[in-house]
Formats: sequence, structure tokens, C-alpha cells
Amino acid sequence: MPSGTRRLKFLSIGECMVELSGGGEGLLRMGFAGDTLNTAWYARARLGDDWDVAYFTAVGDDRYSRAMLEFLDENGIATDLVQVIPGKRPGLYIIHQEQGDRHFTYWRDSSAARLLADDAEHLLNATAKADAIYFSGITLAILKPARRTELLAVLDGARENGAMIAFDPNIRPALWPDVAAMRQIITEAASISSIVLPTFTDDAPFFGDRSPEQTISRYLEAGAREVVVKNGPNPVHVSTGHISVFLSVEEVDHVVDATGAGDAFNGAYIAARLQGEAPETAARAGSRLAAKVIRHQGALVLDS
Ligand code: ADP
Repeated sequence: MPSGTRRLKFLSIGECMVELSGGGEGLLRMGFAGDTLNTAWYARARLGDDWDVAYFTAVGDDRYSRAMLEFLDENGIATDLVQVIPGKRPGLYIIHQEQGDRHFTYWRDSSAARLLADDAEHLLNATAKADAIYFSGITLAILKPARRTELLAVLDGARENGAMIAFDPNIRPALWPDVAAMRQIITEAASISSIVLPTFTDDAPFFGDRSPEQTISRYLEAGAREVVVKNGPNPVHVSTGHISVFLSVEEVDHVVDATGAGDAFNGAYIAARLQGEAPETAARAGSRLAAKVIRHQGALVLDS
């Protein structure tokens, strides 16, 4: 990159949690994860040196919050916009393995990240400097209603000023007060987004979609400009309203761990689109990376 050229900025907004998972013999191994962090991690791996990738969240002032910030730093994800809230703690979950199934137990009700949008001025300043912004239904679900509205208004403004806004509805009914509120806010979020990246089997039960095409129409009608519907081993559907693509995904004989497949897909898809690739090429990059991720244990798989 020529010196003096402004670096582009990708900002991911959401909650990163402390993850404890089986270390054997009653031991638990500590890591850090969360949907928007995972996508930022994959975007970092795929975007060139001309891009900065930053995470926008709130953490506490405890040792685990500090360890989380170190983890982000070590992984090339900028932490300068992360708010440190004295006395708060990060959210935490434990993964319990039982006969090949993974069960998640969460402690996140009073996590610092729930306050990530409380400082309106900080939110506005951070988003105003971003060229691309990623957030999810989980980001919205953890906020108080007034803060959600504020976040969507700020993102709408950023899109009007030329930023690309990417959104994964990441439907988690347990995090929402009720299903009607979840549907309404997810639809509002799609209406201010450039790219919406839903997963068909997550959305269909709550929105009544009978096919991925219906999921696409619903989000395009809401105001999204580009919709990418993931559907596990089934084809990915992409539509911009003008062009529609239907793409088979890479075949995976043995799925080791499906955690993070959608997040990895999103990171690769968004990075490819930001680098000027067509939706079809971006979807191919997304499904190739997701296929690799599900062949390995864990949500963050090195991109070699
Ligand atoms: P999520 O991880 O959000 O639940 P999906 O299950 O739809 O989303 O997976 C995201 C992407 O990961 C899919 O679009 C596909 O590219 C890939 N993928 C997931 N499961 C499989 C599978 N069994 N075989 C091949 N690819 C898969």
C-alpha cells in the first residue's frame, strides 16, 4: 500500500464471551468466541493489508476481560474502540460434550457487552469512520430496546454515508423477550443493511418461509440490497434483486464440528465482496471456507 493512503476499516459490533470447553479429566480449557468476533476473525484472515479490522464491544476491568483484549490484539483485531466498564464482567459459556453432541450453558445476562451501545457519541464516532460494519441478531438481542433503536439509526446513517452494512439475523429466540419483537427488529435491521446473510433453517420456523427463495424475497422487500441464504449442506442462494445465483456447496463427508460454519462463511463472503468480487465468487469463497471449518474442531480454524 502506498504510504499516505488511508487504510480501510472493517468494524464488527457484538459480544465476545469467555468459552470453557472440555480439556479432559474434569478440566476446562479457556478460549474466547462469539458470532461477530468469529466473523471478524475470518474477515481479518481474508482482507488485505489495506484493511484494519476492529471489534466494537464493551468488556469489564477484570483479568478475563484483559485476557480477551490480549487475544484480540494477538489475532490482529484492533481493540482501540472497545469500552472498558469498571465492575462489569464478560459473558461466559461452557460447552458440554455428550455422545458427540455439544450443549451450551450461558452466563451472559449481565455481561459488559450488553452496554456496548450505551455511549451514543462513541458509537456514532466509531461507525462514522468505518467503511464496512458487521452486526447480528445477537448484537441486537442483548441490548435494551432504546439502545437497539439507537444502534439501527446510527447504522442507517453510516449506510447513507457510503459504508457497507452486513447483517446476520442469527436467530436466537432465547435471547429475545418474545418472538414478535424478534421478528420486528430483525426485519428493521435488514431494512438498513446492504447485505443480509440469514440461515434458512434458523429463519424459516419464525418467519414461515417455505423455501430459501421466500427468505430472499422477504428481506429484499424489507429493504436489503443483497441477500445470501445459507442452508447447511444445501445450495446457497444469493440475490441482489437484479441477479439471482444458486450455488452448490462443497461436499463434506464427515462433519467434525459445525460450530462457526455460518460465521466463517460470512467473513469470507463479506471480505470477497469488499475486494470487488461478484456475489457468486464470494459465495463460493464462503462455502469453501465453511467446509474447511466444519472438518475441524472449534469455531476458529486457521486459513492456510
Ligand atoms: P449456521 O452455521 O449459521 O447454522 P449453516 O448450517 O447453513 O449455517 O452453514 C453455513 C455454511 O456452512 C453453509 O452455507 C455451507 O456452505 C457450510 N456447511 C454447513 N454444513 C455443511 C455440510 N454438512 N456440508 C457442507 N457444507 C456445509
